[in-house]
Amino acid sequence: MVGFGAAGACAALEAAAAGAEVIVLDRFGGGGATALSGGVVYAGGGTPQQRAAGVPDTPDAMYGYLLAEVGDAVSPATLRRFCDGSVEMIGWLQALGVPFEGSLCPYKTSYPSNRHYLYFSGSEAAGGFRDLAPPAPRGHRVKGRGSSGKVLFAHLGRTVRHAGSRVLVQTAARRLLTDADGRVKGVECRTLAGAPPWVRRGHLLASRYAAKPGLYVPALRRVLHRWTERLEARHSRPLWIAVRRAVVLAAGGFVANRPMLREHAPAYRAGLPLSTPGDDGTGIRLGAAAGGATAKLDHVSAWRFISPPSAFLHAVLVDADGRRICDETRYGAALGQAMVTGHGGRGWLLADREILAEARRGLREQTVWSSGCRPSTCCGVPSPATRSRAWRPRPVSTPTGCGTR
Ligand SMILES: Cc1cc2nc3c(=O)[nH]c(=O)nc-3n(C[C@H](O)[C@H](O)[C@H](O)COP(=O)(O)OP(=O)(O)OC[C@H]3O[C@@H](n4cnc5c(N)ncnc54)[C@H](O)[C@@H]3O)c2cc1C
Repeated sequence: MVGFGAAGACAALEAAAAGAEVIVLDRFGGGGATALSGGVVYAGGGTPQQRAAGVPDTPDAMYGYLLAEVGDAVSPATLRRFCDGSVEMIGWLQALGVPFEGSLCPYKTSYPSNRHYLYFSGSEAAGGFRDLAPPAPRGHRVKGRGSSGKVLFAHLGRTVRHAGSRVLVQTAARRLLTDADGRVKGVECRTLAGAPPWVRRGHLLASRYAAKPGLYVPALRRVLHRWTERLEARHSRPLWIAVRRAVVLAAGGFVANRPMLREHAPAYRAGLPLSTPGDDGTGIRLGAAAGGATAKLDHVSAWRFISPPSAFLHAVLVDADGRRICDETRYGAALGQAMVTGHGGRGWLLADREILAEARRGLREQTVWSSGCRPSTCCGVPSPATRSRAWRPRPVSTPTGCGTR
Protein backbone atom coordinates (compact mmCIF):
# COMPACT_ATOMS: atom_id res chain seq x y z
CA MET A 1 0.00 0.00 0.00
CA VAL A 2 1.61 3.27 -1.05
CA GLY A 3 0.11 6.08 1.05
CA PHE A 4 -1.42 5.99 4.50
CA GLY A 5 -4.42 8.31 4.30
CA ALA A 6 -8.05 7.18 4.32
CA ALA A 7 -7.79 5.43 0.94
CA GLY A 8 -4.62 3.50 1.86
CA ALA A 9 -5.94 2.65 5.33
CA CYS A 10 -9.29 1.35 4.03
CA ALA A 11 -7.59 -0.66 1.27
CA ALA A 12 -5.14 -2.09 3.83
CA LEU A 13 -7.98 -3.18 6.09
CA GLU A 14 -9.83 -4.87 3.23
CA ALA A 15 -6.66 -6.56 1.96
CA ALA A 16 -5.80 -7.83 5.45
CA ALA A 17 -9.37 -9.08 5.90
CA ALA A 18 -8.98 -11.00 2.62
CA GLY A 19 -5.88 -12.73 3.99
CA ALA A 20 -3.11 -10.64 2.39
CA GLU A 21 0.12 -9.79 4.16
CA VAL A 22 0.07 -6.00 4.04
CA ILE A 23 2.86 -3.43 4.12
CA VAL A 24 1.77 0.22 4.24
CA LEU A 25 4.24 2.97 3.29
CA ASP A 26 3.97 6.68 3.91
CA ARG A 27 6.47 9.33 2.92
CA PHE A 28 5.68 11.30 6.08
CA GLY A 29 3.93 10.24 9.29
CA GLY A 30 0.64 9.07 7.75
CA GLY A 31 -2.75 10.79 7.77
CA GLY A 32 -2.22 12.93 4.67
CA ALA A 33 -5.08 15.23 3.64
CA THR A 34 -7.46 12.90 5.48
CA ALA A 35 -6.18 14.00 8.89
CA LEU A 36 -6.40 17.68 7.85
CA SER A 37 -9.91 17.32 6.53
CA GLY A 38 -13.25 18.27 7.98
CA GLY A 39 -14.00 14.57 8.46
CA VAL A 40 -17.34 14.87 6.69
CA VAL A 41 -18.44 11.53 5.26
CA TYR A 42 -21.20 11.80 2.66
CA ALA A 43 -23.67 9.02 3.43
CA GLY A 44 -27.38 8.36 3.25
CA GLY A 45 -30.15 6.02 2.30
CA GLY A 46 -31.35 5.71 5.91
CA THR A 47 -28.26 5.72 8.13
CA PRO A 48 -28.73 5.32 11.92
CA GLN A 49 -27.88 9.03 12.32
CA GLN A 50 -30.54 10.07 9.80
CA ARG A 51 -33.07 7.83 11.55
CA ALA A 52 -32.11 9.25 14.95
CA ALA A 53 -32.69 12.75 13.59
CA GLY A 54 -36.06 11.67 12.17
CA VAL A 55 -35.15 12.42 8.55
CA PRO A 56 -36.36 10.01 5.89
CA ASP A 57 -33.96 8.97 3.12
CA THR A 58 -33.58 6.14 0.61
CA PRO A 59 -30.73 4.91 -1.60
CA ASP A 60 -32.85 5.89 -4.62
CA ALA A 61 -33.22 9.51 -3.42
CA MET A 62 -29.49 9.69 -2.73
CA TYR A 63 -28.70 8.28 -6.17
CA GLY A 64 -31.17 10.64 -7.89
CA TYR A 65 -29.52 13.66 -6.31
CA LEU A 66 -25.90 12.59 -6.77
CA LEU A 67 -26.42 11.60 -10.40
CA ALA A 68 -27.28 15.23 -11.12
CA GLU A 69 -24.60 16.69 -8.81
CA VAL A 70 -21.49 14.70 -9.72
CA GLY A 71 -21.93 14.57 -13.50
CA ASP A 72 -19.49 12.16 -15.10
CA ALA A 73 -17.07 12.06 -12.15
CA VAL A 74 -17.94 8.39 -11.61
CA SER A 75 -19.88 5.86 -13.66
CA PRO A 76 -23.58 5.36 -12.87
CA ALA A 77 -22.77 1.77 -11.79
CA THR A 78 -20.15 2.95 -9.27
CA LEU A 79 -22.50 5.64 -8.02
CA ARG A 80 -25.30 3.09 -7.59
CA ARG A 81 -22.99 0.85 -5.58
CA PHE A 82 -21.91 3.80 -3.43
CA CYS A 83 -25.53 4.72 -2.64
CA ASP A 84 -26.75 1.16 -2.08
CA GLY A 85 -23.81 0.45 0.25
CA SER A 86 -23.90 3.74 2.13
CA VAL A 87 -25.66 2.54 5.30
CA GLU A 88 -23.27 -0.40 5.43
CA MET A 89 -20.27 1.91 4.97
CA ILE A 90 -21.26 4.05 7.95
CA GLY A 91 -21.80 0.86 9.98
CA TRP A 92 -18.33 -0.34 8.95
CA LEU A 93 -16.72 2.92 10.08
CA GLN A 94 -18.66 2.86 13.34
CA ALA A 95 -17.46 -0.70 13.97
CA LEU A 96 -13.90 0.66 13.72
CA GLY A 97 -14.78 3.14 16.45
CA VAL A 98 -15.40 6.21 14.24
CA PRO A 99 -18.04 8.25 16.11
CA PHE A 100 -21.03 9.82 14.33
CA GLU A 101 -24.12 11.49 15.75
CA GLY A 102 -27.61 12.33 14.47
CA SER A 103 -27.59 15.89 15.84
CA LEU A 104 -29.17 17.75 12.94
CA CYS A 105 -27.93 21.24 12.08
CA PRO A 106 -30.95 23.56 11.84
CA TYR A 107 -29.42 25.89 9.24
CA LYS A 108 -27.59 25.42 5.93
CA THR A 109 -23.81 25.65 6.23
CA SER A 110 -20.65 24.24 4.69
CA TYR A 111 -19.43 23.00 8.08
CA PRO A 112 -21.52 22.78 11.23
CA SER A 113 -20.45 23.89 14.69
CA ASN A 114 -19.37 21.52 17.45
CA ARG A 115 -23.01 21.04 18.44
CA HIS A 116 -24.12 19.46 15.17
CA TYR A 117 -22.85 16.43 13.27
CA LEU A 118 -25.50 15.81 10.58
CA TYR A 119 -26.28 18.48 8.00
CA PHE A 120 -27.17 19.41 4.43
CA SER A 121 -23.62 19.44 3.06
CA GLY A 122 -24.48 19.51 -0.65
CA SER A 123 -27.05 21.08 -2.98
CA GLU A 124 -29.81 18.63 -2.00
CA ALA A 125 -32.33 21.34 -1.10
CA ALA A 126 -31.24 23.88 -3.74
CA GLY A 127 -33.47 24.84 -6.65
CA GLY A 128 -33.40 22.30 -9.47
CA PHE A 129 -32.23 19.53 -7.12
CA ARG A 130 -35.00 19.36 -4.53
CA ASP A 131 -37.48 18.51 -7.31
CA LEU A 132 -35.30 15.69 -8.67
CA ALA A 133 -35.19 13.70 -5.45
CA PRO A 134 -36.49 14.21 -1.91
CA PRO A 135 -33.72 16.20 -0.16
CA ALA A 136 -32.07 14.75 2.94
CA PRO A 137 -29.12 15.84 5.09
CA ARG A 138 -26.25 13.48 4.31
CA GLY A 139 -23.16 15.23 5.62
CA HIS A 140 -22.05 12.93 8.47
CA ARG A 141 -19.36 14.85 10.29
CA VAL A 142 -17.18 12.61 12.43
CA LYS A 143 -17.80 13.59 16.04
CA GLY A 144 -14.89 15.61 17.39
CA ARG A 145 -14.12 19.22 18.05
CA GLY A 146 -12.68 21.39 15.30
CA SER A 147 -11.99 19.84 11.92
CA SER A 148 -12.61 16.23 12.73
CA GLY A 149 -10.64 14.46 9.99
CA LYS A 150 -7.97 13.81 12.61
CA VAL A 151 -10.47 11.74 14.59
CA LEU A 152 -11.42 9.78 11.48
CA PHE A 153 -7.80 9.01 10.70
CA ALA A 154 -6.90 8.18 14.30
CA HIS A 155 -9.43 5.34 14.27
CA LEU A 156 -8.53 4.11 10.77
CA GLY A 157 -4.79 4.22 11.48
CA ARG A 158 -5.08 2.43 14.81
CA THR A 159 -7.23 -0.33 13.30
CA VAL A 160 -4.77 -0.89 10.45
CA ARG A 161 -1.96 -1.42 12.97
CA HIS A 162 -4.12 -3.72 15.12
CA ALA A 163 -5.06 -5.75 12.03
CA GLY A 164 -1.41 -6.78 11.77
CA SER A 165 -0.31 -4.67 8.80
CA ARG A 166 3.25 -3.33 8.91
CA VAL A 167 3.31 0.44 8.66
CA LEU A 168 6.56 1.99 7.45
CA VAL A 169 6.45 5.74 7.97
CA GLN A 170 9.02 8.17 6.51
CA THR A 171 9.37 5.75 3.62
CA ALA A 172 8.67 7.09 0.13
CA ALA A 173 7.92 4.92 -2.89
CA ARG A 174 10.09 6.11 -5.79
CA ARG A 175 9.63 3.48 -8.50
CA LEU A 176 7.64 0.36 -9.29
CA LEU A 177 9.84 -2.51 -10.43
CA THR A 178 8.41 -4.65 -13.19
CA ASP A 179 9.46 -7.96 -14.77
CA ALA A 180 9.84 -8.66 -18.49
CA ASP A 181 6.06 -9.10 -18.84
CA GLY A 182 5.36 -5.76 -17.21
CA ARG A 183 4.08 -7.30 -13.95
CA VAL A 184 4.86 -5.25 -10.86
CA LYS A 185 7.32 -7.22 -8.75
CA GLY A 186 8.61 -4.69 -6.28
CA VAL A 187 8.67 -1.15 -4.97
CA GLU A 188 11.85 0.87 -4.79
CA CYS A 189 11.76 3.24 -1.83
CA ARG A 190 13.88 5.68 0.13
CA THR A 191 13.49 5.44 3.89
CA LEU A 192 14.60 7.40 6.93
CA ALA A 193 14.48 4.23 9.06
CA GLY A 194 17.89 4.06 10.71
CA ALA A 195 18.55 7.79 10.33
CA PRO A 196 19.61 9.67 13.50
CA PRO A 197 16.68 10.38 15.85
CA TRP A 198 16.99 14.16 15.39
CA VAL A 199 16.58 13.70 11.63
CA ARG A 200 13.47 11.57 12.01
CA ARG A 201 11.95 13.90 14.59
CA GLY A 202 12.78 16.98 12.52
CA HIS A 203 11.34 15.42 9.37
CA LEU A 204 8.10 14.47 11.13
CA LEU A 205 7.69 17.86 12.77
CA ALA A 206 8.47 19.80 9.60
CA SER A 207 6.07 17.69 7.53
CA ARG A 208 3.35 18.07 10.17
CA TYR A 209 3.65 21.88 10.26
CA ALA A 210 4.00 22.08 6.49
CA ALA A 211 0.62 20.34 6.30
CA LYS A 212 -0.99 22.64 8.88
CA PRO A 213 -0.68 25.59 9.44
CA GLY A 214 1.35 25.47 6.18
CA LEU A 215 -1.93 24.84 4.35
CA TYR A 216 -2.83 28.49 4.93
CA VAL A 217 0.68 29.97 4.88
CA PRO A 218 2.26 28.90 1.58
CA ALA A 219 5.62 30.59 2.34
CA LEU A 220 5.96 28.62 5.59
CA ARG A 221 5.00 25.45 3.78
CA ARG A 222 7.66 26.01 1.12
CA VAL A 223 10.43 26.51 3.69
CA LEU A 224 9.44 23.50 5.79
CA HIS A 225 8.96 21.24 2.79
CA ARG A 226 12.32 22.19 1.35
CA TRP A 227 13.83 21.18 4.68
CA THR A 228 12.08 17.77 4.64
CA GLU A 229 13.40 17.26 1.09
CA ARG A 230 16.93 18.10 2.23
CA LEU A 231 16.72 15.66 5.15
CA GLU A 232 15.43 12.97 2.78
CA ALA A 233 18.22 13.63 0.26
CA ARG A 234 20.97 13.51 2.89
CA HIS A 235 19.80 10.86 5.32
CA SER A 236 17.53 8.38 3.55
CA ARG A 237 18.72 5.00 2.38
CA PRO A 238 17.33 2.78 -0.37
CA LEU A 239 14.86 0.03 0.44
CA TRP A 240 13.39 -2.54 -1.96
CA ILE A 241 10.14 -4.27 -1.11
CA ALA A 242 9.21 -7.44 -2.99
CA VAL A 243 5.60 -7.68 -4.09
CA ARG A 244 3.81 -11.01 -3.95
CA ARG A 245 0.33 -10.01 -5.06
CA ALA A 246 -0.32 -6.36 -5.72
CA VAL A 247 0.57 -2.74 -5.05
CA VAL A 248 -2.21 -0.28 -4.31
CA LEU A 249 -1.32 3.34 -5.06
CA ALA A 250 -3.14 5.64 -2.64
CA ALA A 251 -0.62 8.49 -2.49
CA GLY A 252 -3.03 11.41 -2.89
CA GLY A 253 -3.55 13.84 -5.74
CA PHE A 254 -1.39 16.32 -7.66
CA VAL A 255 -2.60 19.76 -6.71
CA ALA A 256 0.74 20.54 -4.99
CA ASN A 257 2.60 19.89 -8.25
CA ARG A 258 2.55 23.16 -10.22
CA PRO A 259 3.77 21.75 -13.56
CA MET A 260 1.17 18.96 -13.46
CA LEU A 261 -1.55 21.44 -12.57
CA ARG A 262 -0.43 23.68 -15.43
CA GLU A 263 -0.54 20.74 -17.82
CA HIS A 264 -3.86 19.21 -16.81
CA ALA A 265 -5.99 21.88 -15.16
CA PRO A 266 -4.49 25.33 -15.87
CA ALA A 267 -7.66 27.23 -14.98
CA TYR A 268 -7.28 26.17 -11.34
CA ARG A 269 -3.74 27.45 -10.77
CA ALA A 270 -4.79 30.66 -9.04
CA GLY A 271 -6.44 28.85 -6.15
CA LEU A 272 -5.00 27.91 -2.77
CA PRO A 273 -3.94 24.25 -3.11
CA LEU A 274 -5.90 22.47 -0.39
CA SER A 275 -3.56 19.57 0.10
CA THR A 276 -0.39 18.39 1.79
CA PRO A 277 2.99 18.72 0.08
CA GLY A 278 2.64 14.95 -0.50
CA ASP A 279 -0.05 15.66 -3.11
CA ASP A 280 2.68 16.01 -5.73
CA GLY A 281 1.32 13.47 -8.21
CA THR A 282 3.87 10.77 -7.33
CA GLY A 283 1.24 8.04 -7.10
CA ILE A 284 -0.19 8.98 -10.48
CA ARG A 285 3.26 9.05 -12.08
CA LEU A 286 4.25 5.70 -10.53
CA GLY A 287 1.11 4.09 -11.91
CA ALA A 288 1.45 5.64 -15.35
CA ALA A 289 5.11 4.58 -15.59
CA ALA A 290 4.05 0.99 -14.91
CA GLY A 291 1.53 1.13 -17.77
CA GLY A 292 -1.54 2.34 -15.89
CA ALA A 293 -4.07 4.57 -17.64
CA THR A 294 -5.04 7.97 -16.27
CA ALA A 295 -8.33 9.78 -16.76
CA LYS A 296 -10.10 12.95 -15.69
CA LEU A 297 -6.93 14.72 -14.55
CA ASP A 298 -8.64 17.93 -15.65
CA HIS A 299 -11.32 17.41 -12.95
CA VAL A 300 -10.38 19.53 -9.94
CA SER A 301 -12.61 20.23 -6.99
CA ALA A 302 -12.57 24.01 -6.41
CA TRP A 303 -14.20 25.10 -3.17
CA ARG A 304 -15.77 28.50 -2.67
CA PHE A 305 -17.80 28.23 0.52
CA ILE A 306 -19.70 31.35 1.51
CA SER A 307 -21.21 29.98 4.71
CA PRO A 308 -20.99 29.94 7.69
CA PRO A 309 -22.51 32.30 8.53
CA SER A 310 -25.62 31.07 6.77
CA ALA A 311 -26.89 34.64 6.30
CA PHE A 312 -24.57 34.94 3.29
CA LEU A 313 -26.66 32.38 1.45
CA HIS A 314 -29.15 35.25 0.99
CA ALA A 315 -26.49 37.42 -0.67
CA VAL A 316 -25.88 37.43 -4.42
CA LEU A 317 -22.68 36.19 -5.99
CA VAL A 318 -21.79 38.07 -9.17
CA ASP A 319 -18.86 38.21 -11.57
CA ALA A 320 -16.88 41.21 -12.80
CA ASP A 321 -19.68 42.06 -15.25
CA GLY A 322 -22.31 41.94 -12.54
CA ARG A 323 -23.74 38.66 -13.82
CA ARG A 324 -25.02 36.25 -11.17
CA ILE A 325 -22.70 33.26 -11.01
CA CYS A 326 -24.72 30.50 -9.42
CA ASP A 327 -27.48 29.66 -6.94
CA GLU A 328 -25.67 30.66 -3.73
CA THR A 329 -27.26 27.81 -1.73
CA ARG A 330 -25.49 25.17 -3.82
CA TYR A 331 -22.55 23.06 -2.66
CA GLY A 332 -19.34 25.12 -2.35
CA ALA A 333 -17.59 23.04 -4.99
CA ALA A 334 -20.40 23.82 -7.42
CA LEU A 335 -19.91 27.55 -6.74
CA GLY A 336 -16.16 27.18 -7.19
CA GLN A 337 -16.61 25.22 -10.40
CA ALA A 338 -18.98 27.83 -11.83
CA MET A 339 -16.58 30.64 -10.89
CA VAL A 340 -13.53 28.99 -12.43
CA THR A 341 -15.08 27.59 -15.58
CA GLY A 342 -17.44 30.42 -16.49
CA HIS A 343 -16.37 33.60 -14.69
CA GLY A 344 -12.58 33.86 -14.59
CA GLY A 345 -12.26 32.55 -11.02
CA ARG A 346 -13.43 35.75 -9.34
CA GLY A 347 -16.69 36.87 -7.86
CA TRP A 348 -18.20 39.49 -5.59
CA LEU A 349 -20.68 38.71 -2.88
CA LEU A 350 -23.32 41.45 -2.65
CA ALA A 351 -25.06 41.76 0.69
CA ASP A 352 -27.22 44.51 2.14
CA ARG A 353 -26.93 45.92 5.66
CA GLU A 354 -29.56 43.52 7.02
CA ILE A 355 -27.77 40.42 5.71
CA LEU A 356 -24.48 41.71 7.03
CA ALA A 357 -25.93 42.31 10.51
CA GLU A 358 -27.42 38.82 10.53
CA ALA A 359 -24.10 37.37 9.35
CA ARG A 360 -22.27 39.07 12.20
CA ARG A 361 -24.79 37.68 14.69
CA GLY A 362 -24.30 34.18 13.21
CA LEU A 363 -20.50 34.24 13.27
CA ARG A 364 -19.93 33.16 16.85
CA GLU A 365 -22.79 30.66 16.86
CA GLN A 366 -22.12 28.95 13.55
CA THR A 367 -18.36 28.78 13.09
CA VAL A 368 -15.82 26.32 14.38
CA TRP A 369 -12.51 27.23 15.99
CA SER A 370 -9.70 24.78 15.54
CA SER A 371 -5.96 24.95 15.10
CA GLY A 372 -5.32 26.77 11.87
CA CYS A 373 -8.98 27.69 11.47
CA ARG A 374 -10.72 30.92 12.32
CA PRO A 375 -14.35 31.91 12.34
CA SER A 376 -15.47 32.38 8.78
CA THR A 377 -13.46 29.48 7.47
CA CYS A 378 -15.33 26.58 6.08
CA CYS A 379 -13.78 23.14 5.92
CA GLY A 380 -10.56 25.03 6.39
CA VAL A 381 -11.09 27.36 3.46
CA PRO A 382 -10.55 31.00 4.41
CA SER A 383 -13.36 33.14 3.16
CA PRO A 384 -12.20 36.67 2.39
CA ALA A 385 -15.76 37.80 1.87
CA THR A 386 -16.87 36.90 5.36
CA ARG A 387 -13.67 38.19 6.95
CA SER A 388 -14.03 41.82 5.96
CA ARG A 389 -14.67 44.06 8.93
CA ALA A 390 -16.41 46.97 7.28
CA TRP A 391 -18.50 45.47 4.57
CA ARG A 392 -17.54 46.35 1.07
CA PRO A 393 -18.08 44.21 -1.99
CA ARG A 394 -14.85 42.22 -2.22
CA PRO A 395 -13.44 39.93 -4.83
CA VAL A 396 -13.82 36.31 -3.78
CA SER A 397 -11.00 34.31 -5.32
CA THR A 398 -11.49 30.60 -5.55
CA PRO A 399 -9.33 28.19 -3.58
CA THR A 400 -8.52 24.99 -5.34
CA GLY A 401 -9.30 21.67 -3.75
CA CYS A 402 -7.58 18.35 -4.23
CA GLY A 403 -7.23 16.79 -7.68
CA THR A 404 -10.05 14.33 -8.14
CA ARG A 405 -9.27 10.68 -7.95
C1 LIG B 1 -8.67 21.15 4.54
C2 LIG B 1 -9.37 19.99 3.87
C3 LIG B 1 -10.66 19.64 4.26
C4 LIG B 1 -11.30 18.55 3.66
N1 LIG B 1 -12.54 18.19 4.12
C5 LIG B 1 -13.15 17.09 3.60
C6 LIG B 1 -14.36 16.61 4.15
O1 LIG B 1 -14.85 17.12 5.17
N2 LIG B 1 -14.95 15.54 3.56
C7 LIG B 1 -14.40 14.92 2.47
O2 LIG B 1 -14.97 13.95 1.97
N3 LIG B 1 -13.23 15.35 1.94
C8 LIG B 1 -12.59 16.39 2.50
N4 LIG B 1 -11.37 16.80 2.00
C9 LIG B 1 -10.78 16.03 0.92
C10 LIG B 1 -10.23 14.74 1.52
O3 LIG B 1 -9.50 15.05 2.69
C11 LIG B 1 -9.31 13.99 0.54
O4 LIG B 1 -9.98 13.81 -0.69
C12 LIG B 1 -8.97 12.61 1.13
O5 LIG B 1 -8.45 12.74 2.43
C13 LIG B 1 -7.94 11.91 0.24
O6 LIG B 1 -7.57 10.71 0.88
P1 LIG B 1 -6.36 9.86 0.30
O7 LIG B 1 -6.17 8.70 1.20
O8 LIG B 1 -6.60 9.61 -1.15
O9 LIG B 1 -5.10 10.85 0.38
P2 LIG B 1 -4.30 11.38 1.65
O10 LIG B 1 -5.15 11.35 2.88
O11 LIG B 1 -3.67 12.67 1.28
O12 LIG B 1 -3.18 10.27 1.83
C14 LIG B 1 -2.14 10.11 0.90
C15 LIG B 1 -0.87 9.74 1.65
O13 LIG B 1 0.12 9.35 0.69
C16 LIG B 1 1.38 9.75 1.18
N5 LIG B 1 2.34 9.77 0.06
C17 LIG B 1 2.45 10.68 -0.94
N6 LIG B 1 3.45 10.32 -1.78
C18 LIG B 1 3.98 9.17 -1.29
C19 LIG B 1 5.04 8.30 -1.71
N7 LIG B 1 5.76 8.57 -2.82
N8 LIG B 1 5.33 7.21 -0.96
C20 LIG B 1 4.62 6.92 0.16
N9 LIG B 1 3.61 7.71 0.61
C21 LIG B 1 3.28 8.81 -0.12
C22 LIG B 1 1.13 11.10 1.80
O14 LIG B 1 2.14 11.42 2.76
C23 LIG B 1 -0.26 10.89 2.44
O15 LIG B 1 -0.16 10.55 3.81
C24 LIG B 1 -10.69 17.85 2.61
C25 LIG B 1 -9.38 18.19 2.22
C26 LIG B 1 -8.71 19.23 2.85
C27 LIG B 1 -7.31 19.53 2.45
